[in-house]
Amino acid sequence: MQGLWEVKEKKEKKERIIKGRDLVDVVFSWSVRDVLNSKLYKGKVDKIPNTFQSSKEYFKSFVNPIIEETHAALLSSMETLRRAPAFKVWEIKPAKDFKPPKNLYYEVTLQTVSDNTTKGDGKLLEFNDLVAVTDNKPYRIDDLRCSNEPYLLALVCGVNEDNPHLITILASKPIVFEEGHMETRKKGKGVKKSLSLFCVYLTNMMTNIRIWIALHPDPEGGNLKLISKVLQSNNEVGGESCVSCQENSENIMPNHIEKRLRSFKLNTSQEEAILRCLEAKNCRHSNNIKLIWGPPGTGKTKTTSVLLLNLFKMRCRTLTCAPTNIAVLEVASRVVKLVSESLRLGGYGLGDIVLFGNKERMKIDDREDLFDVFLDYRVDELYDCFLALTGWRANVQRMISLLTDPKEVYRQSFIENDKRRPSFKKFVEKRFSKLRTDLRSQFSTLCLHLPTASLSFQVAEKMNATNDLLRAMKVSDVVRVSRKEDARKQDCVEMLGSICESIELPDFIGKFGLQRLCLENAYLMFCTASSSAKLHMSCPIQLLVIDEAAQLKECESAIPLQLPGLRHAVLIGDEKQLPAMIQSKIASEADLGRSLFERLVLLGHKKQLLNMQYRMHPSISIFPNREFYGMKILDAPSVRVRSYEKQFLPGKMYGPYSFINVPYGREQFGQGFSSKNIVEVSLVDEILSKLYSVSRKSGRSISVGVISPYKAQVFAIQEKIGKKYDTSEKFTVSVRSVDGFQGGEEDIIIVSTVRSNGKGAIGFLSNQQRTNVALTRARFCLWILGNESTLTNNKSVWSRLVDDAKARHCFHDAYDDESLAQCIKRSATALDDLAKLQSNKLLSFENSIWKVLLTNEFLKSLETIIDSEINKRVMSVLEKISNGKFQQDSKSENLFRQEDIDDGLSLIWTVDIIKKQNHYLQVLKIWHVLPSSDVSCAEKCLEKHYKRYTKLKIERCRYICSQGNVVVPMRWPVKSCLKNDMISDVSRSFALLSVLDEAEVQSSKTSLMNLFKIQEFLKRWKMKNVWTIRRKALLQRS
Ligand SMILES: [Zn+2]
Repeated sequence: MQGLWEVKEKKEKKERIIKGRDLVDVVFSWSVRDVLNSKLYKGKVDKIPNTFQSSKEYFKSFVNPIIEETHAALLSSMETLRRAPAFKVWEIKPAKDFKPPKNLYYEVTLQTVSDNTTKGDGKLLEFNDLVAVTDNKPYRIDDLRCSNEPYLLALVCGVNEDNPHLITILASKPIVFEEGHMETRKKGKGVKKSLSLFCVYLTNMMTNIRIWIALHPDPEGGNLKLISKVLQSNNEVGGESCVSCQENSENIMPNHIEKRLRSFKLNTSQEEAILRCLEAKNCRHSNNIKLIWGPPGTGKTKTTSVLLLNLFKMRCRTLTCAPTNIAVLEVASRVVKLVSESLRLGGYGLGDIVLFGNKERMKIDDREDLFDVFLDYRVDELYDCFLALTGWRANVQRMISLLTDPKEVYRQSFIENDKRRPSFKKFVEKRFSKLRTDLRSQFSTLCLHLPTASLSFQVAEKMNATNDLLRAMKVSDVVRVSRKEDARKQDCVEMLGSICESIELPDFIGKFGLQRLCLENAYLMFCTASSSAKLHMSCPIQLLVIDEAAQLKECESAIPLQLPGLRHAVLIGDEKQLPAMIQSKIASEADLGRSLFERLVLLGHKKQLLNMQYRMHPSISIFPNREFYGMKILDAPSVRVRSYEKQFLPGKMYGPYSFINVPYGREQFGQGFSSKNIVEVSLVDEILSKLYSVSRKSGRSISVGVISPYKAQVFAIQEKIGKKYDTSEKFTVSVRSVDGFQGGEEDIIIVSTVRSNGKGAIGFLSNQQRTNVALTRARFCLWILGNESTLTNNKSVWSRLVDDAKARHCFHDAYDDESLAQCIKRSATALDDLAKLQSNKLLSFENSIWKVLLTNEFLKSLETIIDSEINKRVMSVLEKISNGKFQQDSKSENLFRQEDIDDGLSLIWTVDIIKKQNHYLQVLKIWHVLPSSDVSCAEKCLEKHYKRYTKLKIERCRYICSQGNVVVPMRWPVKSCLKNDMISDVSRSFALLSVLDEAEVQSSKTSLMNLFKIQEFLKRWKMKNVWTIRRKALLQRS
């Protein structure tokens, strides 16, 4: 007994280890104010150097930037808190290893009812999700602070495999269970108290935790061979071929490999790049890092997949990583296709290729071409084959017994004289056909999914042959037990026996064991750089290939670079295109987004350039080639032929390359203070409809891409064209930001540059990499819309672009095209109307009955709502009431009116009086959008505001004039009004309200955050007026 007890105690003492705990602790140490302070780490994040003295210094330089980036991710999740999925807690209790003050583990049961908002795709919380624990479903950051609990973060550190509602969390502070948490509910006789507690999803920390771990490697066991090669600019690793290899002629490629390469019809530079990589991989003298430089359209993907196919044939254990799931799927799919074509026996051999990662994030269900190599699916399929009772080996034994002695099997299967016993023949027939079907499917699963190390080609052939034999066999053959044994039957039994002997795997293997088996014996593995962390405990890997390497943060590439056994790496990318996205400005300025690829290029590391482009018409490629690639790129013969020059629309303006000057555009600030230009929006719309009619008339397939660097413009164009072309098969339009277009290509590209101002400010556009991506997506035609004077007002790449277009006679004026000229005229008038409205601060909806007056406070509150759905709802409420559709019986004393936007937000408005020429006019005054809980506070403020009105004025505000069920605004001539009761100056009343608001700060829930937001907002004050216009514009369209 003593012994048992001891064992049990030991087990309980085993401590849970949270990987990357230090980073988690830093995150836990932030208060709400810290999180909301975007400058928390300003001045504390040093720029990442270009060279490093030691690996220690190397790792350390990424630590602060990654903390700051984590901070920025959390801050941004706070801004969209309203949309964040919230999970109601059903039960919570300290876990077994709960040990204050540090190890605050809790076991949590999330409520299963469907009203739990899930993470969009129906997912519950996942491993390494960061959540806020709160007693209220929060709508704004304030709610996290106002709840009874102090701001409390937790990390999901365990999810029950069988029931995802059971999770374990590590909390930043002890969770106190007060009365306030309990909802009292009557249930039957007794009163049941239930918890009122939520876990609100903020962000997932998985990748940053993995980076953190890679930055703090095990001082003893890590593989730093490659890391030590990238610290300095070093001639030895400069990408040159290995001297020792050359001296000993060890790097001469066998003939058959060169021959195989030639069969793919690669160009010289592609072939060179592959050969150099294969050489480097064979080198035993040093550790090599090879860079393949693939500018747009130069066949980077083809080169990568042929390289991987060769590595596969050479049995080189290779891991291929990419920064994103999309990129991983792309390269894996190409390679699987290529490998499948070269396989001799069905899918035999695919078992040596494994793709793994998060099933949901990869959206693998949409990628049927990858089902055969996806690890989770493979394990599921194999699992059934390795069940002890119904697995393949049991079935083979059964088949052997049935074939050798069917009578005996029959005898053993039933008690004698069993009345339900079928006839012998019927029994054999049924048994045989079931076994035959089962074996066929299990054999093909084994052939397809087992690594070739566990199942040789000969065995696979035997399985195939056995299947054929069994298929050809008739039941009568099985039943017949003559002395003269059927030769076929005999063959079959022998083959089944030999298959059994040649596979040395246990009868039963669990899922975990199968996963290991597949990963450890694979030759080509595919996953994101982040997911490669899962391979750190696995068998040695020889070579690492990083695709889209210029888009992978250097610190993230530190995860796969330290994998056990790794000796060489191949990085494929183009540092002239966009780097990794970084949320934090501070971290971005510290160069966190820079890739290892880019830094090595900076240090003069040799690149293997793919120098022939197959995408763009020469008139399109010439400018980016000169500007970004030093004229090193050749145009492939295929793009130089006459037939590659296509004229989709008549006129020189619509040739392969043109700059279309839009002189009267006007830029505005749209969503999230990004810019847009509605004149360009309507021009894009016009050009698209011209192209569409050409496509319809001629039956020609045309794909068009519209690119803008500004999100607001992308949004505006998407909204303008709506679903117009969705049903057309031959005419496709995709409108995306530059960043969303990286890697893509279309027949025609229209670039909308947006910027149009006298100052020549081009902001976002000035980024060279972004410009390069925008200019290199088109196959046949590239049309750039822009304002000549703005773009040439500074010495950027854009001014050179305009000059170049002029020199090449590709510069056109939008006015030269009659329909475009009409377009500009129309949208310019609309702009002027809007400008007039803006100056009045009056919003008038199309055909609306009431004038609507927006207070600044209201505009401000709109800004804090990031959810566009809610914005739309606000606007539709405004539209409704501006059409006089509101309650008529306002007999209550105050003028205050409230309209619910949804369960948590209310719109506050009143009827007010303004002076218009010689009339006083009833208008709707929109005060605020705010959480319903703050309504009473706002009501008090308004009461104070209206106390300053005269009795007459108040009466007029209250006056209701209705026609049918519509309330219409009243007007009174000025003369009949008392002179000194006019205080309808909008700005004064606003000032009063906001002063009151600030005074309320101490007593009410209006808190620091509001102040913070107000300050932030005032900074952007100039931009705000535009908001009104955008809203108006939106509504007009709808
Ligand atoms: Zn060598």
